[in-house]
Amino acid sequence: MFAAIRRWRRNRILATSAIPDPLWREALESLPFLAIYTESELARLRERVVLFLSDKSIVAAEGFKVTPLMRVMIAIQACVLTLNLDPRFYDGWHNVIVYPDEFIADLEYEDEIGVVHRRNEAIAGEAMPGGPVVLSWPDVEASADWTASGMNLVIHEFAHKIDMRSGEANGCPPLSAEMPPQKWQKTMTMAYEHFLARVEAGEETAIDPYAADSPAEFFAVLSEVFFADPTLLQAEYPRVYQLFTWFYRQDPASRTELLLEH
Ligand SMILES: [Zn+2]
Repeated sequence: MFAAIRRWRRNRILATSAIPDPLWREALESLPFLAIYTESELARLRERVVLFLSDKSIVAAEGFKVTPLMRVMIAIQACVLTLNLDPRFYDGWHNVIVYPDEFIADLEYEDEIGVVHRRNEAIAGEAMPGGPVVLSWPDVEASADWTASGMNLVIHEFAHKIDMRSGEANGCPPLSAEMPPQKWQKTMTMAYEHFLARVEAGEETAIDPYAADSPAEFFAVLSEVFFADPTLLQAEYPRVYQLFTWFYRQDPASRTELLLEH
């Protein structure tokens, strides 16, 4: 009975909140990494985006104005992560807040001897457990061109959200029954320690050195690379790439020839 109500509600939203074709096309064209997806996957993504936009409020901060194109671009990138996952990964919170620029976050952190410090810092994005995702629009816009920026802010913050489904962000998202947590931990820890050592040795890495900040950032940054530059992740950390194909149920590197045809 409950499932029937949910299905009815879903179909009603899909019927009444459709995204106009020109807007959908414009959003897809502004995100070139989506060229690897088939027509039927994009149709499914479009449904996910409609449901996401009906479920979440994408609101502006500091007098900014969020256009329909911005909303769809943000929603598309959020939904790419969960395209083959249960959409309930994003349950339990409601808002995406978009700033006109980097914003000041009140950060609290603990040093090695356990003293808690506070500092104010301008940041491009933030995901809060049980709370909103916060994004700086210029950084979302810059993320559309991976070759130039080497980052994808929306994928990064929503990877944190997926990670937070099992509590605080720690680099270990909720795993399905067939994946032993030890295998996840072992693969990720080995790769993280390897990457950390490279960054500490002063090596210039093709992957953003911010990934060395913590296991949580490692998961978020490598998720960006997985979707936006999959062959890079496959070349740098093939075991992590394999683990992510299993986790996200996608294999983007196997399709990168489609990017060249685009
Ligand atoms: Zn982060």
